[in-house]
Amino acid sequence: MKVLVINCGSSSLKYQLIDSDTKQVLAVGICERIGLEIGVIKHTPAGRDRIENKVKMDNHEVAVSLVLNALTDKEYGVISDLSEIQAVGHRVVHGGEKFASSTVITEEVIQAIEECNDLAPLHNPANLIGIRACMSLMKDVPMVAVFDTAFHQTMPEEAYLYALPTEYYDKYKIRKYGFHGTSHSYVSERMADFCGLDIKNSKIIVCHLGNGASISAVVNGKSIDTSMGFTPLSGLVMGTRSGDIDPSIIEFIAKKENKNLDEIMHLLNKESGVQGMSQVSSDFRDINEAMNNGNEKARIAFNVFVYRVVKYIGGFIASMNGVDAIAFTAGVGENDPKVRYDVCKYLGFLGITIDQEANKLRGEEVMLSTPDSKVKVAVIPTNEELAIARETVAIL
Ligand code: AMP
Repeated sequence: MKVLVINCGSSSLKYQLIDSDTKQVLAVGICERIGLEIGVIKHTPAGRDRIENKVKMDNHEVAVSLVLNALTDKEYGVISDLSEIQAVGHRVVHGGEKFASSTVITEEVIQAIEECNDLAPLHNPANLIGIRACMSLMKDVPMVAVFDTAFHQTMPEEAYLYALPTEYYDKYKIRKYGFHGTSHSYVSERMADFCGLDIKNSKIIVCHLGNGASISAVVNGKSIDTSMGFTPLSGLVMGTRSGDIDPSIIEFIAKKENKNLDEIMHLLNKESGVQGMSQVSSDFRDINEAMNNGNEKARIAFNVFVYRVVKYIGGFIASMNGVDAIAFTAGVGENDPKVRYDVCKYLGFLGITIDQEANKLRGEEVMLSTPDSKVKVAVIPTNEELAIARETVAIL
């Protein structure tokens, strides 16, 4: 089945046309600067050069129509007719407590997603704009919403509740939701397969370490805890996000630096993490290079990042009462051997041993642990778009 996967932001729209049977990506692209004076569509048909067209896109509907034109274009298209697109899978960031799984999009579903807008004010409204634009241009094509939060809806209350007065949960649903659910679900399933485990009888930790980063504890195929929380700001140290901090720091900085809440949230989301600590970059390639050149701040940032990962893994092993396998995924997890090695070194007490040669590989599915290791450790490249495409087909 050919599935169009859409990931819509407030001024951008990413897309992939995927054949869910063969896993083949037929085309991939992005529309940027939607609503601005000059926008751009970048379209790459599989195995061919990228085409870039500067064009004004007044709104997302214009962007979607450009995408559909690109996909069917005589020269650089990949399908001859739009009727070949049999379904559209939309990435939706927040499904609140309403959605514990993906769902076919109807007017009621759109309303329910709208009701979650408060929980993800930057993302959900943009996702909805993309959904509406596709619905108006592809009237007879079924659409499915795939939520970042849905996979974590199986967390028990002791994992998802914060120790605030209960009225804040009752009134506003302030609780841990967790994110990157599509990735955690896809990688845990693939990891079980790769390690010869029965997913229904397994304890797996997934370390999704990218620019945004989160860890999940997956027991028998269900998420029982994860490091991101009410928003994607908590948990691990990330590219530019602080991850967990003492909440009182916010008041302290506000008073010392005379900053308002918006400014502090910007600081925690955009200027902290590995970038803020190293003062070098949010990118681990730059951090590694700086460390190799003796940059002390880069070394410290790297070590703080690794240490936080280890603490979450340790905590989740206790929550799961054991662990069968640990998977590394996303940009850093798939490509940074030093991060993986340093994390596993801390975990030596579990009987984990790593094959140093295998660990040199980047971006490939590979078993890192040696055959005698007590816990299996592997790299499983994530593929959120393929996961969305498959989920879309499964739901339909
Ligand atoms: P993601 O958010 O999953 O796309 O991950 C992006 C991040 O992956 C970048 O910001 C880098 O920190 C990291 N990354 C990508 N390639 C490499 C590499 N070859 N070595 C180390 N880190 C990498």
